[in-house]
Amino acid sequence: MSEATDTIFSKIIRREIPADIVYEDDLALAFKDVNPQAPVHILVIPKKPLVKLADAESQDHALMGHLLLTVKRVAEQVGLSNGYRVVINNGDDGGQTVSHLHLHILGGRQMKWPPG
Ligand code: AMP
Repeated sequence: MSEATDTIFSKIIRREIPADIVYEDDLALAFKDVNPQAPVHILVIPKKPLVKLADAESQDHALMGHLLLTVKRVAEQVGLSNGYRVVINNGDDGGQTVSHLHLHILGGRQMKWPPG
């Protein structure tokens, strides 16, 4: 996978391309997925250009926790009071298509299991 500084998500962080941003702080950004797979589909990304979860190191411990708490915060903000799913696709077999770590928040319908 290519450098995470050269992806569409880095361009969104730098405001070089538009996105429907729903939350931002110093460490994270959340925006609506352009191809939603549920009535609510939001991506939470670190501003740090981590390519994928497997590239996180011990120094990213606090950032990883922050991303999960950001998921919780954003889910509350958009009213997902009946639950939601959080997905991280990691690498090729995980189905990751954008080389910048992202957490999917999916909600607004009953999710199925197992995923495809
Ligand atoms: P993944 O398959 O886990 O790598 O997910 C990448 C996600 O990024 C997909 O759900 C895409 O629909 C979404 N995506 C790609 N480009 C954009 C964009 N410009 N704005 C918002 N979401 C995007």
